[in-house]
Amino acid sequence: MHEMSITQGIIDLCLQYAGGRRVMALEVEIGQLSGVVPEAVEFCFEACSRGTLLEDARMTITRIAGRGLCQECGAETDLEELFAGCGSCGSHRVRITAGQELRVTEIEIED
Ligand SMILES: [Zn+2]
Repeated sequence: MHEMSITQGIIDLCLQYAGGRRVMALEVEIGQLSGVVPEAVEFCFEACSRGTLLEDARMTITRIAGRGLCQECGAETDLEELFAGCGSCGSHRVRITAGQELRVTEIEIED
């Protein structure tokens, strides 16, 4: 389950940033096309943060919808999945413009 290593990466990043202080809250953006399941990250976070400075930290996950720009007809299209075609012409030459995010956008540290 790769969410486990992803979650561990998120935790490591926060610990590094916090420099020994307690992390109260964090915000994470997960794109719909990133291949990462938000619920799994939440679940892993519970387990991985236990006994660390992130224990009991409040994690907010923002989901970013998949969007693409069709290279064939120029339409902007919603992408439900990574290899979905253009909603207007059906072409698969779609450049992804949003939805592949996986990043920590905010970390709140104890004073
Ligand atoms: Zn198109």
